[in-house]
Parts: sequence; C-alpha cells; structure tokens
Amino acid sequence: MERTYLIKPALDEEYPIVSYGKGVYLYDLDGKQYLDASSGAVTANIGHGVEEIIEAMKEQSEKISFVYRSQFSSEPAEKLAEKIALSTPGDLNWSFFVNSGSEATETAMKVAIQYWQEKGFPLKSKILSRWVSYHGITLGALSMSGHPGRRSRFVPLLADFPNVSPPYCYRCPFNQTPESCKYECAQELDTALSRIGPESVAAFIAEPIVGAAGGCITPPKGYYKKVKEICETHNVLFIADEVMTGFGRTGTMLASEHWGIIPDIVCLGKGMGAGYAPIAATVVSEKVMEPIMSGSKQIMSGHTLSANPQSAAVALAVMEYLENNNLFADVDSKGIYLKNLIEKLRVQYPFIGDIRGKGLLLGLEFVEDRETKQSFSKEFNVTSRLVKIAQSLGLLVYPASAGLDGTSGDAIIIAPPLTITKREIEELVRLLESSMVQLKQELVKQGVK
Ligand code: PMP
Repeated sequence: MERTYLIKPALDEEYPIVSYGKGVYLYDLDGKQYLDASSGAVTANIGHGVEEIIEAMKEQSEKISFVYRSQFSSEPAEKLAEKIALSTPGDLNWSFFVNSGSEATETAMKVAIQYWQEKGFPLKSKILSRWVSYHGITLGALSMSGHPGRRSRFVPLLADFPNVSPPYCYRCPFNQTPESCKYECAQELDTALSRIGPESVAAFIAEPIVGAAGGCITPPKGYYKKVKEICETHNVLFIADEVMTGFGRTGTMLASEHWGIIPDIVCLGKGMGAGYAPIAATVVSEKVMEPIMSGSKQIMSGHTLSANPQSAAVALAVMEYLENNNLFADVDSKGIYLKNLIEKLRVQYPFIGDIRGKGLLLGLEFVEDRETKQSFSKEFNVTSRLVKIAQSLGLLVYPASAGLDGTSGDAIIIAPPLTITKREIEELVRLLESSMVQLKQELVKQGVK
C-alpha cells in the first residue's frame, strides 16, 4: 500500500477515491458506480450533485463567505433560523448554529444547564441519557453517549450520564413482549431520577430512533409520551437528538412528531446541510430561552464558524429543495416499499434477525440463530464484512453496533437519499441480496449453519 499522509478511519486499509456524485450514485476515479444506500452517514438526504444547491453556494460565495458572529449576522442565517422555527412544532423558535452534530448536542447540554442556572437552580447540572446511544464524539457529547466502544478509551474523562435502558423491543431489557410491555424502560427513567435526585439533573437526552449505536432502535408507541411526562414531573428538560432523524428522514421534519411530543431542545445536523456544507443546530424553545433572555442575555457556547453565511445558505437551499420537491410526502411509502422488499429476503437469509426503523431510516440486525436471537461471535466480523462485500459490489450501507451491551450485536443502517426512486430501491435490494449471498457463502464455509 502506498503511504499517504491523511488519517483515515482504518489506517491499514485502502479507500477508493471518489470522483463525483449524481443523485443516489457515487463514482470513483476508476469509474466504478456505487449506489449510496446510506446517504454516507445518513447525511446526503437529497442526493449528490443537486444543481439548486450548487447554484446557491455560488451565489452566496460571490456575496460573502464568512463573517464573525459577534460582528455581523447574515441574511441566510436569519432566514434559515426563521424557516426552522416555522417548520418545527410548538415553540421551538430559536436556533443556534454550529458545525457538527457533536457541537449541537454539546451546546444543548450547556443551554439546559444554563437554563436552570438562570432560573436559580445552579445544582441542576447533570444530564441523563440511555445506554445504546450516540450523541457525538467531543467530551461532553461522549459523556452523554451510551456507546461503550466509543467511550472506553476516555472513560476517566467522561461524566456518568448514561443511566437508563434503551427501548430495544427486539431485545427487551425487561424480557417483555409487545403484549406485556408496560413501558418499563420509560419507567426506569423515573426510578433513575428519583435515585439520583432531580434537583441535580438538568435534562434527559435521547435519539428518537437510535442510530449508529443500535441500528435504528424504534420505541413502542407510547414510550416518548411517558418519557416526556416523567421529565415534566421531575422538572427536567427533554432534549431530542434529531441529528440523524431530523429533516424528513422519517417523513416529518422531526421524528419526535410521530409520537406527538414537543421537546424542550432539539439537535439537528447531518441532513441539514445534506453533506454540501458542515452545519448543525441546537433549536431551543421559547420556554428555555425566556430566563436566558431576561437573565444573562447570551448563550455560553459558540464557534468561530457558527452561523457561517455560506453554510447557512446551503441549509436554506436544502430546505427549499425539500419543500419545492415535496420530498417529505413520499418518505413513508418509499420506506414501506423498501422494508417490504427487504422482508422478502428474510426467507433465504436466516441471519436477518430484525428489520426496524421508520420512513427511510431502516436498520437490519443480524443474528446467528433467529430462534434464540443469539448474536454472531465477534470473530465473524459480520457487520464490517457485509459492509465491505456490499461496497465491493457497488452498494454503500452504514455499519452500526447492536446488542444490549452496545457491542455484542451486528447491524447495518439503510437510509438512501429521500430522492430515491422506486427503480433505484429495487436495484438497492438486488445489490443487498447479492451481498447477502456472498456473506452467506463465506459464513457457511466457516461452519455457520
Ligand atoms: N447525534 C447523533 C444521533 C448522531 O447520529 C451523530 C453522528 N452519527 C451525532 C450526534 C454526532 O454528529 P457529528 O458526527 O456530526 O459530530
């Protein structure tokens, strides 16, 4: 392997060099085509090479690319904040722009703590979160993340925020079935709050659908209503980390809308710039802003490139594109079509244990034994093998962790651009099946039945 100077995810592997992208396809320098079935890391929500976005970028860069936020605001940043306020439910009216999902969750944490300080409760500074979750890689965000694999190296530096079990119905931590479920996992939040003492807790943070840490774990129907009630009872804010689920990924602006709840703070990222620019946001409700506005009148967070006009212009153009092409409207039916086609693969590929998710955010969990739900032993490396086989066949899927301990299971995420057509969905499933054929052959050779 030729030596390079770029630190890539795996330093002992070679990566194809991308040449260009169009729609749901990417092409490398050798001209090989890849169907982007994961929108990268659930980011390229409107596909690649969209002319309208390129135009908006050109137009903005001819005006101004950078101003510093304490010196100027900009038209695209003002318009974007207004559009987000109008597109989100309830009183989620205030946006603070950052550059990544990790910064958005880290800012949400700080805003929640500040809210209670301004209201005269300086001790309310802990954030509770769930195991099997991912909220970002910076130390505050990682403190909230219940992702053992990503935490392990830094444990001494992290706060012990994950305290609650995930709503992981396929592997219910309370051994319940959908019929016997009494939302024990939500109830656990109540117990944790009583034990830790709500007077020391500022907020509870959760991903509406658990992405990278759990392969699209989707809660039972009444779960979030219960969680929100428990937060309100204990005077604790509810932060929805919609970095992966926001911007129409599940057919609505926020996935929280499916469960009829309005969070106090929302984190957005990924699909917000759709990969055309780094931009993310912490969206804050009037309720939370009110004591801050009548108190210190500023949020103690920010970055040099916060509310960058170039990135804001991109996110605004992405929102307009989603609207003009009515892209949220078909997400549900496209997702059902895709899910049904994948369901058919179950018959021949018994290692498909669970298919879950919502809209165009689907997760597949793989098991060695479907009856017992026994995961594959780690030596089989099922997730990374499948991801590599798929890529070699021209299909991009996203690797996820799974299992109640957050490390023992195998899962992938399938989340193509919302613009995907029916024909492209069929092609995606054909390529997925070819990948499964190869995986099955390899596993059989290794003695797996
Ligand atoms: N929250 C969630 C739910 C995410 O999925 C991610 C990224 N996978 C993050 C936060 C962190 O975002 P970023 O990688 O942009 O920092």
